[in-house]
Amino acid sequence: MKKIQMVDLQSQYEKIKPEVDKAINDVVASAAFINGPEVKNFQSELEKYLGVKHVIPCANGTDALQIAMMGLGLEQGDEVITADFTFAATVEVIALLKLTPVLVDVDPHSFNIDLEALESAITPKTKAIVPVHLFGQVANMEAILKIAEKHKLYVIEDTAQAIGADFTFSDGTTKKAGTIGTIGTTSFFPSKNLGCYGDGGAIFTNDDELAHVIRGMVNHGMYRRYYHDVVGVNSRLDSIQAAVLRLKLPHLDDYCSSRRNAARYYNNGFKSNPNIVTPTTEKCGEICDTCNCHVFHQYTLKITNGKRDALHQHLMDKGIPNAIYYPVPLHSQKAYVDDRYKEEQFKVTNDLINTVISLPMHTELEKAQQDLIIQTIIDFVG
Ligand SMILES: *Cc1c(COP(=O)(O)O)cnc(C)c1O
Repeated sequence: MKKIQMVDLQSQYEKIKPEVDKAINDVVASAAFINGPEVKNFQSELEKYLGVKHVIPCANGTDALQIAMMGLGLEQGDEVITADFTFAATVEVIALLKLTPVLVDVDPHSFNIDLEALESAITPKTKAIVPVHLFGQVANMEAILKIAEKHKLYVIEDTAQAIGADFTFSDGTTKKAGTIGTIGTTSFFPSKNLGCYGDGGAIFTNDDELAHVIRGMVNHGMYRRYYHDVVGVNSRLDSIQAAVLRLKLPHLDDYCSSRRNAARYYNNGFKSNPNIVTPTTEKCGEICDTCNCHVFHQYTLKITNGKRDALHQHLMDKGIPNAIYYPVPLHSQKAYVDDRYKEEQFKVTNDLINTVISLPMHTELEKAQQDLIIQTIIDFVG
């Protein structure tokens, strides 16, 4: 059996090695390192895949969030609501731009933003909602759009963990995660579902005007060379990363279904264990391929008998990688503590940080590896 890894990027690379090596060499030989044809081609191929009018590549997923908020013209004091249980990048850029982050609790099953908590956090100062499609599951965008329309708010979808996932509306129409709100952002960090071989990110929108504003913003606020109309940033996807992404994009749907198959195999393995809660999907309650609403960036269990920390240590001792995403809720992080928050507002997050554990999840997981992981966990948790 191959050594078990949390994410096995080497084995994935081996399968596409000749094409990737050639593409990288070609960029080096062409010396078109910045804004070369690979970037433009990747941009249009991703637009086509997502069914969105504009993809604006940038340097990473955190920049993508920051530039999205700059592009929307959000200003100091504007309130932006997001989930308490997520990676810090989301709240970080809100704070950096001197906007006011408003953290709210999440749903205990989907781990995505709690709709009631979201709606009751809205004030006259609220300007935007940032749903994070956590662990690969698309948040309930239909409900979120309704709330946003009612209160005239922008919706910025943080799609760093869910590229390739779909959301199906009650009328049967389907849209790709990241293309449903006002604007969407993603990350191509190597371990993300569509990862490059360094840093990368992108912004998506169907709004022509907004796309134009953002295209200038990623490039020092220039709409004409050396004329700086707005304060921008320097945030580019480089050509080598774009070349890698162009080769991986045609595999994305297969990558998503490998992840889903692995998740389904885990779910079966842990079935009916009283101390383990396996992930479900909000849309259909199970892991089905038809609606593609969950692409399992992470496979995350809840351990309900108080043995989560002990299990984490036990797996480490046995050489089975695992991780706690996330160990501290954002509202308790030193950088983001705020008197406005009361602990009882975050019942779910405060519980999740003590119960969740994420298992190895990637496109190259083998059944024998999963069997060993499952058996080791069941033997320990009881
Ligand atoms: C990874 C991630 C980001 C940041 O992406 P980078 O490319 O690492 O800057 C933002 N939000 C979420 C939810 C993420 O998982």
